[in-house]
Amino acid sequence: MERTRIYRLYHLRPTLANRLRDAQIEAARVWTLCRDLHLYARQHGLPWPNRDDLQRATKGGQFALHSQTIQMVCHTFLANVETTRQLKATNPKMRYPYKDKRYYPLSWPAQTVSIERGRIVLPMGRGRPALIFRLDTSGLPERVGGCKLVWKDGYELHVSIPVENEVVETTAQEVGSAAEMETVPVRATVDLGKIHQAAVSTNTGKAIVISGRGIRSLKRRQNMALGQIARKCSRCEPGSKRWRELQHARQQQSARIERQVRDLRHKGTRKVITFCQEQHVSTLYIGNPHGVRKRLTGRHHHQRMSQWEYGKGIAYLTEKAKQARIESFTGSERGTSSQCPVCGRKQKPKGREWVCRNPQCGFHGHRDVVGSVNMHPLAYNQKISFPAHITYQRAGPVRVSQRNEEPPRVRRRASASPL
Ligand SMILES: [Zn+2]
Repeated sequence: MERTRIYRLYHLRPTLANRLRDAQIEAARVWTLCRDLHLYARQHGLPWPNRDDLQRATKGGQFALHSQTIQMVCHTFLANVETTRQLKATNPKMRYPYKDKRYYPLSWPAQTVSIERGRIVLPMGRGRPALIFRLDTSGLPERVGGCKLVWKDGYELHVSIPVENEVVETTAQEVGSAAEMETVPVRATVDLGKIHQAAVSTNTGKAIVISGRGIRSLKRRQNMALGQIARKCSRCEPGSKRWRELQHARQQQSARIERQVRDLRHKGTRKVITFCQEQHVSTLYIGNPHGVRKRLTGRHHHQRMSQWEYGKGIAYLTEKAKQARIESFTGSERGTSSQCPVCGRKQKPKGREWVCRNPQCGFHGHRDVVGSVNMHPLAYNQKISFPAHITYQRAGPVRVSQRNEEPPRVRRRASASPL
């Protein structure tokens, strides 16, 4: 298992930024060459190039990159081809890589990266100076995994850190005590939502709802700000000084909001997993809302829905569950939000409170928890009663960078020299 530490590379010297850009263009050339070879083989009925073929075709100093970086591009390309081949079995519309790439992220495998005295040194191949980043490496272990240089409205360095299995012992004890306490395995389901990040219910009658308000408000702010910048951009000449300034502002704005959203998503999913650990959950079912987005519901709702990144929610939960030794799996949540958990009546839910319109039933409860409760029969073939008590939590406060918080520095004027 591994974790990723993300360094935002602020204030790069223009010469260094240009080098990174040129290197990414170079990596894109490697990709395009692989694509060409693969395309040619496919069109002429030849055997597809394998790892050795691509390595032979890309070696010999054609590219101004470290040989391992070039190899990583080839490996990623082959992995993409393989994934496409598998997906093509179910979806014939899938296409093998066909586009020209202009930029491609650079990666370095573990053996090429060296960390020394607060610097991360990434080699660029024989005869070329290495890339050196002065960063806070205090939390990093001696041996890191690979490094990846990506562009996310500004450069970021992703350092992967292999995680040792030290967590195992503690959770093994927890699992042991849980097994002693009760023989019935505790199972939980998660309903991912937009209004609420996640609604979790267990078969022991506990439930938690994590609010998605922070993420929603950030995204709304993002849309307003980007719209404003786009309107200003439309009034000036592309490529002009003003235009470049606006582009820079857009990049800064969207990168900042994206980081804040990521932070909140991590905090929210962490709370879900902490709750599961407290309840000694052994299995977690994550409902996949795939298909909900396809409905046509007008442009405002459509913008909101298209910005709902439930795939990330699923990925974060899966990863965190794995770390906490909780078994997790995903599946459809079709129809779970439109059924009464008591009498089973199907109706279209209205508003945030689910109210059963069957006069004999009269059930009412939290809409997202209803979805989560209804997932139990789908996931475990077990019907559970609606939880009597629901905990409500926020994902957490948005982290504000230190630079924004520190009081404005008072610049002292140099005292006049006593002359
Ligand atoms: Zn009912």
